[in-house]
Amino acid sequence: MRLGAHISTAGGAYRAFARAREATCDSFLIFTKSNRQWAAKPFTDDDIAFYKDAVAEHADLHPVSVHAAYLINVASPDAALWEKSYLALREEVERAGALGVDFITFHPGSYMTSSEQEGLDAVTRAMRRLLDETADTAPNTVVCLETMAGQGTNLGGRFEHLAYVLANAGPSNRLGVCFDTCHVFAAGYDIRTPEAYAATMMEFDRVVGLDRIRCFHFNDSKHGLGEGKDRHDHIGRGQIGLSGFANFVNDPRWADFAAHLETPPTEDGEDGTTIDMNQVNLAALRGLLASSSA
Ligand SMILES: [Zn+2]
Repeated sequence: MRLGAHISTAGGAYRAFARAREATCDSFLIFTKSNRQWAAKPFTDDDIAFYKDAVAEHADLHPVSVHAAYLINVASPDAALWEKSYLALREEVERAGALGVDFITFHPGSYMTSSEQEGLDAVTRAMRRLLDETADTAPNTVVCLETMAGQGTNLGGRFEHLAYVLANAGPSNRLGVCFDTCHVFAAGYDIRTPEAYAATMMEFDRVVGLDRIRCFHFNDSKHGLGEGKDRHDHIGRGQIGLSGFANFVNDPRWADFAAHLETPPTEDGEDGTTIDMNQVNLAALRGLLASSSA
C-alpha cells in the first residue's frame, strides 16, 4: 500500500511534501485550511504555483488526500447551518481541485434533532449539488465519505448509511468512501483476525461495493469493538492491534491504495528527545508485510 500520515501544512501547503518525506511517507493527508474554522484564506497564485512545483519535485509522493474541516455538517436539519456547511464543503473541494489533489474526505455529519433518514437525505442532497457544482473546478478530485464510529447521531457508522448516499447521489466516479480502521472497529465491525477481516470486507462489498473504497485512514482504536467511541491510537497500541493491520497491508486488493495515519505526529522520549511517531507507525505497518517477515 501507499502508506503515509497526516502532515502539517504550516507555512504553506507545499511545505507538506518535504515533511512527508522526512516522515517516510509514500503518500500523505493534509488540511488546506484551519480544520476548526469556517473561513479559509483564498489561495494566491503563488500558493498554487509553489504547490505544483512541489508536486513535480516530489513526484514519488502520491496520492495526496485532503481532509475537510470538522465543523461541516451537511446532515444538519438546520437550513442555515446546512447551507453554511455545504458552501464550506464546496470551497474545500474547489481548493483541493485547484491544487490538483486526488481525494478529499469529509465526515457525513450528524442528524442532531431530526432522524437518521432525514440526515441521510440531507447528505445526499449535498452530494448531488456538490458533484454538479464542482464538475468544472475539481473534475479529478474524488469526494470520499468517511466511515464513522457511530457516536451519537453521527452518520456513517453503518455501511448502509454510505450505501444509501452513494446510491441516491447519482452515479459518479467522483464519489467514494474513505475507510477508517478505528471508526469501523468502533462501530462494531471486527477486523482483528483474518476471518473477521474477511467477513467485514464481504459485508462492505455486499452493502456498498468494495469498488467504492478509494482510500484509507489507518488508526488503531483506544476503545473496544462496537463501543462507538472515536479515539485514535498508535498502530499496535490499541484494541485493533498489529494483526488487524496485517490483514489490510497484505490484501492484494489494496496494493495501490493510500492509507494515512491520523495520530499525534510526535511523542516525548524518556531522555527528553522527540520521537517521530509517524516514522514509528509507518515502520510498524511496513514490518507487517508478509514478504518482509522471516
Ligand atoms: Zn479518519
